[in-house]
Amino acid sequence: MKGRKLLMIPGPIEFDPDVLQALGTATTSHVDPNFIEVFGKSLELMREVWKSPKGQPFIVAGTGTLAMDMAAANLIEQGDSVLVISTGYFGKRFRDIADCYGAKTTFLEAPLGEVVSLEAIENELKTKQYKALTITHVDTSTGIMVDPKPIAKLAQKYNTLSILDGVCSVAGEEINQDEWGLDVVVTGSQKAIGVPPGLALLVASQKAMEVWGNRKTPVFNYYADWKNWLPIMRAYEERKPSYFGTPPVNLIVALETSLKIICKEGVSERLKRHQNLARAFRAGITSLHLETIPKSNNIAANTLTAAYYPKGIDGSALLTKMSNNDVIIAGGLLPELKTSYFRIGHMGSVSSSDLITVLGALESALFELGHPIESGNGLRAFQNTVIFKET
Ligand code: PMP
Repeated sequence: MKGRKLLMIPGPIEFDPDVLQALGTATTSHVDPNFIEVFGKSLELMREVWKSPKGQPFIVAGTGTLAMDMAAANLIEQGDSVLVISTGYFGKRFRDIADCYGAKTTFLEAPLGEVVSLEAIENELKTKQYKALTITHVDTSTGIMVDPKPIAKLAQKYNTLSILDGVCSVAGEEINQDEWGLDVVVTGSQKAIGVPPGLALLVASQKAMEVWGNRKTPVFNYYADWKNWLPIMRAYEERKPSYFGTPPVNLIVALETSLKIICKEGVSERLKRHQNLARAFRAGITSLHLETIPKSNNIAANTLTAAYYPKGIDGSALLTKMSNNDVIIAGGLLPELKTSYFRIGHMGSVSSSDLITVLGALESALFELGHPIESGNGLRAFQNTVIFKET
């Protein structure tokens, strides 16, 4: 692979060459008319990808965690009750963030490999007036996908704001922000949105903006305060110069390029591609006698797969062998299980040939380490399951 390895971790991912090229263009002033157009267009395209024509998009230098932090800093006040629905490591992160702003946090944690039932969520919402609930759409530590739609409906029923951590899902899993009534949907650039790390991206509903506007206390975070960013986002959309903090010009040029690629493919086509490849990849993984963390396929993410190492196989040796075969995959992230599983990202511009490469490398690495598989099984299962696009 010409001195380059295939990056198949769950973010950062392999980026489209046009996106990388955009990143390398000469940096302009952040108030250059061309850049104002790029920024304004990116905000408009975010509404399309989030399916939130009425939402307020924000593009800020930072990571996915900043996007989560922004949602919490602006919507949560000291003493507010917040319900955190967790399916792994990133649910805990939302609890920590909510705690940081003085919330009274209730933590509903799913058993490993499962999701929290709607019944448990509703029972909890009945106990007191929650200001907000948080959902991790895809928890990247477990590869579990939660269906946000019915949870957002429950949140509306109980007059609770719904905040979706879409860091590992936006542009890779179905999201219909306005129709489903999600109040804030956050992501980071390095995942399915397909832009190198460095952008915190979020879209807030009108209701979320009203709740923020009616706060009783100031926002206890200077950088994250929407008061500083809202005029900037509005100015760029009106194609006017403005300044609060210098925007990462090149990353935003790359963002516009990627959003255009996403919209050209079509959001629903893109989701179908993710679903098709993920299903076939899971078939490949299962045929290698590997067990995935999600206990059933209907809660398995389409953006990554998390699977246990087979018994007796040294995980770090497997990762090294994969890397020697020019494929980079990720180890575990859940502290209690870190050394017993691995994760493979399949989002963004991922193709069937990428996944065939991964399965080929995985088969040979497992075989060399003594896992009893017949080589070719994973590839066969993948190819028998995947729907190849007709040209
Ligand atoms: N939430 C989820 C679901 C994630 O996957 C990640 C990153 N892996 C984050 C939040 C945090 O994003 P970042 O690392 O960009 O701060």
